[in-house]
Amino acid sequence: MSDNLTAPNSLTADVVIVGAGIAGAGLAAALGGRRHVVLLEREAQAGYHATGRSAAVFTPTYGDGPIRMLTAAGAAALHDPDSAFWPHPILKPRGMLRLVAADGYADYARHMYEAGDAHDICLNEARDLFPIMDPQRFITASYERDVFDIDVDGLLQGYLRKARRLGADVYFGCEVTGIVRDGGRWRVETDDGVFDAPVVVNAAGAWADGLAGRAGVRHLGFRPLRRSMAVIDLPADAPASEAWPFVVRFPLDWYAKPDSGWLIVSPGDEELMLAHDAYADDMVIAEGLHRFEQDVTMTVEKVRRSWAGLRTHSADGFPVVGFDPNAEGFFWLAGQGGFGVQAAPALSDLAAALICGDEPSCLLPPAFAGRLAPARF
Ligand SMILES: Cc1cc2nc3c(=O)[nH]c(=O)nc-3n(C[C@H](O)[C@H](O)[C@H](O)COP(=O)(O)OP(=O)(O)OC[C@H]3O[C@@H](n4cnc5c(N)ncnc54)[C@H](O)[C@@H]3O)c2cc1C
Repeated sequence: MSDNLTAPNSLTADVVIVGAGIAGAGLAAALGGRRHVVLLEREAQAGYHATGRSAAVFTPTYGDGPIRMLTAAGAAALHDPDSAFWPHPILKPRGMLRLVAADGYADYARHMYEAGDAHDICLNEARDLFPIMDPQRFITASYERDVFDIDVDGLLQGYLRKARRLGADVYFGCEVTGIVRDGGRWRVETDDGVFDAPVVVNAAGAWADGLAGRAGVRHLGFRPLRRSMAVIDLPADAPASEAWPFVVRFPLDWYAKPDSGWLIVSPGDEELMLAHDAYADDMVIAEGLHRFEQDVTMTVEKVRRSWAGLRTHSADGFPVVGFDPNAEGFFWLAGQGGFGVQAAPALSDLAAALICGDEPSCLLPPAFAGRLAPARF
């Protein structure tokens, strides 16, 4: 067990995981007790990149079939987390309102195919849920009850707590600069020391292709897409705003949700970027808030804060989980796009099962792992 900041000069383990976002931390917890794990994070803390910048929403109907299956398979772990590691609830009811403009109907209809408990509501009901909407701007709406806010930091810290208690060594401020195959094992090099293991896991988020390159493993063509968020004041006379749902506009010109007395609004941007410490572009925020203002009865006086993060997508939009077919012991856990937090329990469980050669404990169909395997590219 360790939470030291300084890595030793040399350490041998069963599995070295690179990246302590929700993916790497979740896997470290899932492997705990079964394998000796070393978790390496370049930043001074876990979750500094995509994980710490999310909208923090759990939506069962997000994405296509495989993504919904992952979300469903891990839902119980979020609804009823092990209190030994997660002393507080992870999910809080939020609900989701979809507002559909005329030019968004085709996309909406396609997206809502087999969409769980979402049901159509009239625009008056929609306005009861989100009093600042302008009903003239929309042609229909739907409401989905089983959508929740996620305590992302609570989930992440619980994973780290569990990993450490089960024997993992976790190092922050420890950037992996080289990965070398040597004598049937991987030598993972950092400025602070060298880690040696038969299995290395690439959980480097937007840097996944770059990290593979350092190991001489072929790129899979991940696409880091920037998504921005702005925090604005709620209207002074807004009734019961803390109970407003997560609101998504079709087509996706913006989405919004209340948070601790503020309103968070995202322009829904998806700009392809190189992996970097993402930051919001003022013009993207301004244009997004302008679109938002056209659909609501409030005006935006001031942006209190803004940020951006990279949602990293694989070429087919599904995560990549499994051993690389051409590099023995090199394991991919990347490409979680805009659903990596809500899918973390199932992805961690599946990845740990593949590394240990076990059956996943979460409920996924037998051939499911093949759909996420890196060999598909
Ligand atoms: C604006 C936004 C909104 C989102 N909303 C939601 C949402 O509502 N619900 C949801 O489920 N998901 C959401 N997501 C998606 C979710 O945040 C991501 O899918 C998830 O956090 C990805 O986790 P990760 O661990 O793969 O990546 P990251 O959190 O980026 O972690 C990767 C880590 O690897 C480290 N690393 C990289 N290279 C090295 C190296 N060489 N050495 C050591 N460490 C290294 C990085 O420093 C980083 O900490 C959103 C994302 C964004 C940006």
